[in-house]
Amino acid sequence: MSEKKSPKLDLKELSFSQSVSYYFDKAAPHTKAPNGLLEQIKACNSIYKMNFPVKFGDEIRVIEAYRVQHSHHRMPTKGGIRYSLQVDQDEVMALAALMTYKCAIVDVPFGGAKGGIKISPRNTPPEVIEAVTRRYTTELIKKNFIGPGLDVPAPDYGTGEKEMAIIMDTYMTMKPGDVDGYACVTGKPVSQNGIHGRTEATGRGVVYALNQVCSYADDMKKIGLTTGLAGKRVVIQGLGNVGYHTANIITQYGAKVIAISESDGAIYNDKGLDPVAVLKHRQETKSILNFPGAKNFKKNMDALEIECDILIPAALEKQITEVNAPKIRAKIIAEAANGPVTPAAAEILNKKGVMIIPDIYINAGGVTVSYFEWLKNLSHVNFGRMQKRFEEKSQRNMIDLVEELTGQKASKEQIHRVIHGADEIDLVNSGLEDTMIKAYHEIREFHKSTRSIQDLRTAAFALSISKIKDAYYAMGIFP
Ligand code: NAD
Repeated sequence: MSEKKSPKLDLKELSFSQSVSYYFDKAAPHTKAPNGLLEQIKACNSIYKMNFPVKFGDEIRVIEAYRVQHSHHRMPTKGGIRYSLQVDQDEVMALAALMTYKCAIVDVPFGGAKGGIKISPRNTPPEVIEAVTRRYTTELIKKNFIGPGLDVPAPDYGTGEKEMAIIMDTYMTMKPGDVDGYACVTGKPVSQNGIHGRTEATGRGVVYALNQVCSYADDMKKIGLTTGLAGKRVVIQGLGNVGYHTANIITQYGAKVIAISESDGAIYNDKGLDPVAVLKHRQETKSILNFPGAKNFKKNMDALEIECDILIPAALEKQITEVNAPKIRAKIIAEAANGPVTPAAAEILNKKGVMIIPDIYINAGGVTVSYFEWLKNLSHVNFGRMQKRFEEKSQRNMIDLVEELTGQKASKEQIHRVIHGADEIDLVNSGLEDTMIKAYHEIREFHKSTRSIQDLRTAAFALSISKIKDAYYAMGIFP
């Protein structure tokens, strides 16, 4: 548990879950928590591995799947479900642990969990995906591993709102009359009790976070950058849910996405790429390569090494290792994906002065808006429904009063600017922005106030562990 053990480890050999434990151990001495409690916070509470048969054409295939609940210190547990051929127990355990620390950082009152099914989302017919999703949900129900107060899945790599709707439908079929049943899963389509803004929430959260990170003149000066996102040169790996929305929203802040890397290759244009047009091109041609006006890279990983201000890995873990870290020429790395920078790479990058914004903070926008969706489902009312008209009437009254007192009439444009009752999307985005700003402020303050902490990841882990420690103390479990 102590930091003394760390130098003996061969960082290059760590598995994903060992990497998360390594970060935990590095941060633990800064939390003043007793060893027994630290062991409890670090341990994975429940691991459910399952195998079940599914018909695949004329064949029967055995599907390997997992649900891991890392921490029950708050209930329900929460975390996405990943569909990928890379899924194994170590990966799901690592992702579940990251969820615990992430929820604590952004004050979302859940324990961490994660699910994974070893299946290729792209090479599996939709009817098989549906059968696998329904069977997986049934297995979770059988073992009490899903439910609004137990464990609430969400989308992750290879899944989206379609799979979440199937999970909800299966749950509601098995639990008829459960009035809170819709809250058994988040990331659902808006028409199926989802919430506006969830699909883009992780990417939007990444941009809100980066906007905050880049707002401190002294921090930016240290890495040779000016404040603000406008004009920043950005490279993105992965044009899926997180990568696409990050790319799209960051360009709205005036940043320039100069390169995008995907599984089949990478493209580059120094003048900037339009993410909407790149996505359309990818949908039409089935590849991001040969995008008009852009240069193709021979290898997709080459894009990560070009000179830029912000590198945003938004695909999978272990993308930046000790092999390519020395060649990275970004000033900031924003870990939109979970675990994209290995500990061995992080050591090299920290020495080079690259600012790494850790995954447990920067990609927390998804779980934050999932929390809002869960609240919406439990309260059975759309956010904004009760107060929108009331707000608009109050604002109208205020304008009338100002007109009366000044004797001047407001123009239609002025009235339009002032009168706006909040819709659900306004409230969601406002809550998300506030969450990302507040959490960064806390991490930065913790970092600055603890001189022995050298990097933002250690500060984020230490802050998170301290918050979980306080939750245990509040329960009276420890003194
Ligand atoms: P996704 O399946 O929507 O997209 C991932 C994209 O990455 C795909 O387009 C895929 O082709 C691409 N990709 C895969 N390997 C690649 C490689 N080697 N190089 C370049 N591109 C590659 O997945 P997502 O939901 O966007 O998740 C991406 C990452 O973000 C994961 O690490 C996930 O755990 C994390 N994350 C997702 C959410 C969420 O709300 N979806 C929330 C927090 C964190």
